[in-house]
Amino acid sequence: MEPVPDDDFLLALLNSTPVVRGLPTDDLADAGQARTWLASAGGLGTEPELQHVLRARQALQAVIRGEEPPEVLAPEIRGVSSVPAVAGGRISWTLIVPAERRLAVRAILAWDALASTSPGRLRPCANNQCRLFLLDRSKANAARWCSMAVCGNRMKARRHYERARQGAASEH
Ligand SMILES: [Zn+2]
Repeated sequence: MEPVPDDDFLLALLNSTPVVRGLPTDDLADAGQARTWLASAGGLGTEPELQHVLRARQALQAVIRGEEPPEVLAPEIRGVSSVPAVAGGRISWTLIVPAERRLAVRAILAWDALASTSPGRLRPCANNQCRLFLLDRSKANAARWCSMAVCGNRMKARRHYERARQGAASEH
């Protein structure tokens, strides 16, 4: 069993480069912190694993933002295979992948599973100064912000300000 569901792991990985006080940051930039992060996600916590995870993160972020085609993910899934076994009356599939690549592959497969089961629900926050992503599980599928409390209110305030300014300008 994975310690965290695949979707949660994927979202946590995508959102590990937040903008803090206007500056892009990286939760995985510090080696010690990164090792802890990988281990808590069920990984090995090693440097080679981190390099694979960082490459997968960069590629996935670019694909979800529409900046790159999904083909940029190809190097990270090259050579991966899945073998079936019968257990408990069901067919189960085991991923055959070197241990240091498993987390990176898991993130990419989680993205692919979402893209087919919930197309369009994983997307960038509509605040273009925010680098976070959201996974909209609501029926309406109309969420635009990573967080209503943070980006939602900020963007509303900005729109209100723009409207007020335009209103003031058109009076003259
Ligand atoms: Zn946001």
